[in-house]
Amino acid sequence: PIILAIETSCDETACAIVDSAGSILAEQVFSQMEHAPFGGVIPEIAARNHLSLLPSMLEQTLAASALKVESLTAIAASTGPGLIGGLIVGSTLGKGLAMAWQKPFIAINHIEAHALTPRLPLPHTLRHTPRVDFPYLLFLASGGHCQCIAVKGIGDYRKLGGTVDDAAGEAFDKVAKMLGLGWPGGAALEALAKEGNPKAYPLPHPMVGRAGCDFSFSGLKTSVSHLLMPYGHDPLPRQMAADIAASFQYAVTHTIEDRLTHALALFPQATALVTAGGVAANMAIRATLADLAARHNKAFMAPPLRLCTDNAVMVAWCAQEIWQAAQKKGIKLADRDGMAARPRPRWPLEELRQRFSA
Ligand code: ATP
Ligand code: MG
Ligand code: FE
Repeated sequence: PIILAIETSCDETACAIVDSAGSILAEQVFSQMEHAPFGGVIPEIAARNHLSLLPSMLEQTLAASALKVESLTAIAASTGPGLIGGLIVGSTLGKGLAMAWQKPFIAINHIEAHALTPRLPLPHTLRHTPRVDFPYLLFLASGGHCQCIAVKGIGDYRKLGGTVDDAAGEAFDKVAKMLGLGWPGGAALEALAKEGNPKAYPLPHPMVGRAGCDFSFSGLKTSVSHLLMPYGHDPLPRQMAADIAASFQYAVTHTIEDRLTHALALFPQATALVTAGGVAANMAIRATLADLAARHNKAFMAPPLRLCTDNAVMVAWCAQEIWQAAQKKGIKLADRDGMAARPRPRWPLEELRQRFSA
């Protein structure tokens, strides 16, 4: 099948067309910067932007693919979890196209899309990325999510642990903001940390040593704000900012290493450790994860950087996996009513098990 997919769950407006082999026939991503002055995503602004951007993006994507509408097999869109306004825009547009073009509509869980992205084969790249096989342990870390998921098969997921407060990316963004690095500042913080000493400030390494694999980042964020208190609104000396950035990144990295060691113990069947989400773009974190996987005799896999952050290729690929799995089981997804799926701000992965049941 050839699938056209839409992503609008947060602040990326994206669409893509992907074929059965995972080849990207056309793709567009627009990261909305209108939120920067507010230091966080404003849901209403995000929804309005999705609405004004999407129609022309869809046209351009279709034109760039040089495909006729008739060649498309199905339309997919993220219908949750995420910001409800954006989800309504993306899924309504997707359903509208599906109706007008008489194609099936596939409702995609955004987290499942992140979870399956490391399986996307990339035949058009020189460095052929091998697909990872089930079962694997997924560490998903973005601005809105931070969780460990046992991925046993398509639709078969179990959350092993997650954050009790902030997501990892959220912590990066808040600390970056305190250091005057703008928003979203994860990447800028990583760059600054390269000039700093990770041992300069003894910050807390939250949850380290505790049972299970839950995360907590708000205490760490508060500790950084205490360090900065004496400086008020004065600019920090550059070396101090770099040392704080490095110490913070070290605390996060060490925490992730500890939590994932526990996650691997909870899910020893995993053949690979896989990561996704914007924070997976962080090279220090990637290196630590790769090292951890090697020590546990597991493969390590991370999507290419641009597929770590929100995009529509992952939504299209997720739809491909679901379509192909359904076909193997003799279920025709076309007969199933994706049209009835409502956008959902919350949508636990565990519920996806029902998808293939009769
Ligand atoms: P959602 O959580 O719904 O997936 P999102 O827009 O927050 O939405 P992504 O687009 O996957 O998620 O990721 C953005 C996050 O990743 C931001 O918090 C950003 O700061 C963080 N991030 C990006 N690059 C880096 C980096 N190099 N180091 C650390 N964090 C990073
Ligand atoms: Mg984003
Ligand atoms: Fe995401």
